[in-house]
Amino acid sequence: MSGKLVVVSNRIPTDAAPSGGLVVAVHDALEQSGGLWVGAHPERGGPTDDGLTEIARDSYTRLAFHLSEEEYDNYYLGFSNSVLWPICHGRIDLVEIERCHEATYLAVNRRVARLLAQHIEDDDLVWIHDYHFLPLAQELRRLGVRARIGFFLHIPFPQLSALSTLPTPDDFARWLAAFDLVGLQTRRDTARCLEMFRADPRAEFMPDGTVKFHDRVLAVRSFPIGIEVDGFAAAARAQQDAADLGSDLGDRLVIGVDRLDYSKGLPNRFRAFGAFLGARAPEDPRASLLQIAPPTRERVAAYRAIRTELEEIAGRLNGEFATLDWTPIRYIHHAVERDLLAGLYRRSAACLVTSLADGMNLVAKEYVAAQDPDDPGVLILSRFAGAAEDMTDAILVNPYDITEMADAISTALAMPRDERRARHEACLAAVRDSDVAVWADRFVACLRACPPTLMVGGPGDRAGNLLPYTKHAEPEIQ
Ligand code: ADP
Repeated sequence: MSGKLVVVSNRIPTDAAPSGGLVVAVHDALEQSGGLWVGAHPERGGPTDDGLTEIARDSYTRLAFHLSEEEYDNYYLGFSNSVLWPICHGRIDLVEIERCHEATYLAVNRRVARLLAQHIEDDDLVWIHDYHFLPLAQELRRLGVRARIGFFLHIPFPQLSALSTLPTPDDFARWLAAFDLVGLQTRRDTARCLEMFRADPRAEFMPDGTVKFHDRVLAVRSFPIGIEVDGFAAAARAQQDAADLGSDLGDRLVIGVDRLDYSKGLPNRFRAFGAFLGARAPEDPRASLLQIAPPTRERVAAYRAIRTELEEIAGRLNGEFATLDWTPIRYIHHAVERDLLAGLYRRSAACLVTSLADGMNLVAKEYVAAQDPDDPGVLILSRFAGAAEDMTDAILVNPYDITEMADAISTALAMPRDERRARHEACLAAVRDSDVAVWADRFVACLRACPPTLMVGGPGDRAGNLLPYTKHAEPEIQ
C-alpha cells in the first residue's frame, strides 16, 4: 500500500470538525489514509518564510503557510482572481495583467513547494486543488519530488483562444505536464484540455489516450464533483418544519444562491424574473425571487461593478412591481447558515441557476438533494454549468436568453406534480452518482494507478537543487 495522502488547497479548514461537502470529503479521505493537508492561513501577515504552522494534528495533520498582504493582493486577488479566474470563465475582457501579479504567483508557488517538499516521501500521493497552484507540481519536480502528483481544477478549463491572454501562454501546458493526473469537472473540460495539448507541438498522444509532453506522461480525466447527498437531504428534512424559515416568504418562492460573481449570470436572472413578472396576469399567484448572494473579492473592480448593477436592477423591478404586501425580489447580501439554506431550498418551488460559465455548480445539486421526493420543486439550470452535463432532466436554459428563462420560470411554477417527480427522480440519480465521497475515492484511486516518476539524475535532492526528471511512459491506467 502506498504512503500518506498530501492535500494542498487554498482554503484549509480551521475548525476541529470541518463542514461543507468538499472539505468533509477531503477530511474523510485523509482520515482513512493519514497524511497532511496544507493550505493558506486565514490570517495574513504571519511568517512568510520559515516553515508551515500547525493548525491541527489528529488522524492527519493540517499545516498552513502564511501570505503577506502584498502576496494576498498579487497572488490571490491579482493573478489567481483577476487573470486566471476570468480567463477560465471566458471573460478575457476583465483580465488585469500586472507584472507583479504573475511574479508573486510564481514566487508563492515556489515557496509553498519548498515548504511542502520536505514533508513528501516517494510513495506518497499528492493531491493539489485548483487554479491557485497550477505551477506547484513543476516547482516540486524541480526540487526532486518523485511522488505521484494529481491536480483537480474546480473551475472551467479555459478555451484555447483565451489562453493566449496569459502573460506567458506556453506555461499553462508545461505547468499541467508536471502532474501525473489532471482531473477536470466535466467531459467538456476534458475535451478542452486535450484540445490544448493537441494544438501544442511539445505534446504527443499515447495509444492509451495519455499525453506525452517532453519527457513526462500525464493522464487527463473528468471527475464530476458532487455533494454529500444524504447529509444534505437530512439537513433539509430536519428544517422542514422549522419556525425560523419565515412564514411570509409566500407560496411561490423561487430561490437563487450564489457567491456574488459575474460568472453566475445574476443580472440576466433578475431581468428574466422581471420579464416573468411583466407577463403575469393580475389574477395569477404572486411569486417572489429570494436571491442570496454574499459579496466576494470586493477589492477587484469587476466584483464591485456587478454588485452595483444588481442593486440597480432589483431596485427598479421592485419599484415597478411591488405592492404594499408583496416584495417580488428579496436580495440578501450575506451568507446563510448551511442547515437554514437546506430548509430554504426545500421550501422553494423552483431554483434558478443561470451561470454564464461554471465548473460544476453545487447549488444545483444541493437544491435537488434538499427536495421532498413526493412534492419536489423544479431546477432551472444553465446549459453552461458543468452540472447540466448529467442533470439533463432539469429545465435547461440559455442564460443569455431572457425570454427563454422567463418562460422557464412560468413552466416550472405551473408544472404538474407527476412531471416534477419524474424530473426530480432523474436529477437525484445523477446527483447520487457524483456524491462527493465517490468523487474523492475515484480521484485518489486513479492517481494511485499512475506509473511512478523516475529520476534521470539519481535520487532527489531535497536541499532544493534542481534535478532533471523523467517519467517512463508505461500506460497502466485502466
Ligand atoms: P462556487 O464554487 O463558484 O461558489 P458552487 O455553486 O459550486 O459555486 O458552490 C457554492 C457553495 O457555496 C455551495 O455549497 C453553496 O451552498 C454555498 N453558498 C453559496 N452562496 C451561499 C450563501 N449565500 N450562503 C451560504 N452558502 C452559500
